[in-house]
This record gives sequence, C-alpha cells and structure tokens, in this order.
Amino acid sequence: MTFHKVAIIGLGLLGGSTGLAVQAYLPGVATTGWDADDATRVRAAERGLVGQVFDDPAAAVAGADLVILCVPVGAMSAAAAAIAPGLADGVIVSDVGSSKQTVAKALADALPGVAVIPAHPVAGTERSGPDAGFASLFQKRWCIITPPEGADQAKVAALSAFWEALGARVEVMTAQHHDMVLAVTSHLPHLIAYTIVGTADDLEGVTQSEVIKYSAGGFRDFTRIAASDPTMWRDVFLSNKDAVLEMLQRFTEDLTALQRSIRLGDGDALYRHFARTRAIRRSIIEEGQDDARPDFGRSDHSG
Ligand code: NAP
Repeated sequence: MTFHKVAIIGLGLLGGSTGLAVQAYLPGVATTGWDADDATRVRAAERGLVGQVFDDPAAAVAGADLVILCVPVGAMSAAAAAIAPGLADGVIVSDVGSSKQTVAKALADALPGVAVIPAHPVAGTERSGPDAGFASLFQKRWCIITPPEGADQAKVAALSAFWEALGARVEVMTAQHHDMVLAVTSHLPHLIAYTIVGTADDLEGVTQSEVIKYSAGGFRDFTRIAASDPTMWRDVFLSNKDAVLEMLQRFTEDLTALQRSIRLGDGDALYRHFARTRAIRRSIIEEGQDDARPDFGRSDHSG
C-alpha cells in the first residue's frame, strides 16, 4: 500500500516540515494543506510547504489517502471535525501530536468509522509557525506509531514506510507506553526548563543583565527549551497530565536526595550520581541523537 496524495492540516513547524519532506523524498506523491490561520495559509503557499494550499479544510483532504493533523494537541478535535466532511473512503488519518492517549481518543470520537493511526515524530526545534519548517527535520529521528487495538496491520506498515521514506526510524508501541516514556524524556525536561528560566527571571539581587551575561554557565541551554511554543506546551501538559505528574513526583524525590547529599557534604554520593548521568550523554551521542562536539559545536566554550 503506497500513498498518492497526502493532506497536511496545520502548516507550522511540523506540518511545514512534513510537506517539504514529502516533496523532497517522495516526489511522486501529491501534497495539499490547510491551516485555520489566514496569514499562515498565505505564507505556506509562498514557501511551497505543500503543492496546493486550500482555504477550505474539506477540500484540502478530498481524495487524500493519508491525512496528517499537525495542530496543537488541544486543537486535534476541532481540526478532525473540520476535515470530516471531506474524507475519502479508505483514508488513514494520522497526526504528529506530542501526547498520544488523549489525541487517540479525541480523533476516534471525532471520526467514527475512520482508520485513525496516531503517530509522533520525536523531532522538533524551539521555533514554530510557517517559516520554521525544513525538509530534513526527520532525518535519523525516531517516529513512534501508536496504533489502536485491532488496527489494520497493512495500514500501520504503510504509515511506517511513509515516515521511513522521510528519513525517520520507526518504533511501534502503545499510546500509554509512549506517554510515560515521553513524559520523562521530553515533557519533564521542558517543565524544568520553564521553571528554572522563570526562577532566574524572578530573582531579586541578581540583575537581568547578569543572568544574560553569565548564561554560558549552563542557563542558556535551558533557555533554548524554555523558548518553545507556549500553546503547544500548555496543551502537552494538560493532555499528558497523569504521566507528567508521576514523573514529576519521582523527579522531586530524586532532587530531594541530591539536596540531602549537598547538605550532608556527601561528595561520594554526588560523584556517583554525576558519573552515572555522564554515561547517558555518551550513549545519546553514540546513537547519533546529538552532536559530540564540545558545547554542541558552539564556537565559544566559556562556562
Ligand atoms: P506550530 O508551528 O504552532 O503549528 C501549528 C499550526 O496549527 C499553527 O499554524 C496553528 O495556527 C494551526 N492550528 C491551530 N489550531 C488549528 C485548527 N483547529 N485547525 C487547523 N490549524 C490549526 O506547532 P508545531 O510545533 O508544528 O506543533 C504541531 C504539533 O506537532 C503539536 O501537536 C505538537 O505537539 C507536535 N510536535 C511538536 C514538536 C516540536 O518540537 N515543536 C515536535 C514533535 C511533535 P495558529 O498559530 O494560528 O494557532
């Protein structure tokens, strides 16, 4: 099973990158798109994010055999309702949302009788909007597919082959497992970054200019994550609430243990912990998931 026409709903970072990647790596496949925002549709057409941008959601998906929803998680339901009247028989509806259990339910409720196969390409940047996308975003990144129970295996295989063609490596798992894993690898780190950047901003006795001036000491790497899209991340935390709260509980306990080691002057415990975490960084580089150059290849190595 191969796709002839792919419709992309939501033409920001993920939607734009998907459209550009299909045109670059699957040149025989037609692409169409729609976004709720007028200015985004104009810019998407100017940049050629998809072959044809439509002003009407039902027209955008007409005749498509794959529709990918690339809107914030909280907007999935509304986007699905908007495209429902135009969907062709036999279509696969998928998405790129960062949490999977609530999205799977929202899509199944909005699109009864339609083959819904949710997915999450674990690839992104802190940028958003129609100017942010680029074709190589998915190269060597993982795409997690979370088919509902009883999903048509031929359709799951077709969606896997689609993401592999865009350069991704594919893993299939349950939505529940996805949400737990991503809570610790993505959602919690974002929450910590949002917290620490806010804390520094609120500090009395340390000026704003000092925070910026000495940021190479570690702070600036948090600021990149904390610059991520506020709408997207509000929706992620609200939709993956249970798994995030569970991981936050564990994190708080581990933080308290480190706090205790500092208070007791237990250098051995601190050293053991830091040596263990350093090894994780090495594994990420060996897996090709980050740059091995010092300081991510930045030219200045202060800090
Ligand atoms: P984005 O750049 O803000 O793009 C989302 C686009 O969807 C915006 O143009 C938005 O318009 C539009 N939109 C909002 N509600 C809509 C609706 N009901 N119908 C049609 N269009 C609508 O965000 P993104 O980073 O691409 O994120 C899109 C999805 O990808 C999210 O579910 C996110 O969880 C997931 N994801 C993101 C990343 C990442 O790093 N950014 C990585 C993996 C997955 P307005 O701006 O006018 O609202």
